[in-house]
Amino acid sequence: MDEAYARAAERAGFECRGCSESCCEERFYHYTLAEHFFLLDGLRKLDRETAAKMLDKARETVRLHRLQDLQRTGGRAMCPLCSGGLCAVYAYRPMICRLHGIPHIVRKQGIVQAGPGCHRFAEEPVDKLTAPELDRTGFYYGMAAIEIELRRLTGFGGRYKKTVAEMVVDGLARDG
Ligand code: SF4
Ligand code: SF4
Repeated sequence: MDEAYARAAERAGFECRGCSESCCEERFYHYTLAEHFFLLDGLRKLDRETAAKMLDKARETVRLHRLQDLQRTGGRAMCPLCSGGLCAVYAYRPMICRLHGIPHIVRKQGIVQAGPGCHRFAEEPVDKLTAPELDRTGFYYGMAAIEIELRRLTGFGGRYKKTVAEMVVDGLARDG
């Protein structure tokens, strides 16, 4: 996934160097137990002090999201795992964190859905007419296959939908 993204970004002449409206401030939901466990593997590699700070930040983000929902204001909130503009669990980040930024397509039942790049991609002087989109289809199917196998092994049958902040609170608070 990372290699395909890097190749597509290079072909488009786009490089994410962070930005003042970082996608790490957007509220993304993640839908697989596989990403949850993988992120927790990354969190367990953090030292105690960093993990405690991340847990505090995650609780604050969850609280802020709830407030935004109650007030129906929307709004942004930095991911609790973003530290100094860098992802503290970069190698363990969820799928959408790896794929965001450049235009993509997803093929489903003969229909091709397209999505744009991020706001900075739109502002970059890249050749948008010839820039190929990243085809996410194989990654979504691959992730679905992993999830099906994981659920078969664990017996977990419920719906999963969490932000990274919720994953951190669930994972770190449980680990103590
Ligand atoms: S997990 Fe990492 S890459 Fe994903 S939103 Fe949080 S800081 Fe950004
Ligand atoms: S992918 Fe785009 S929105 Fe996200 S940090 Fe990079 S430039 Fe900013």
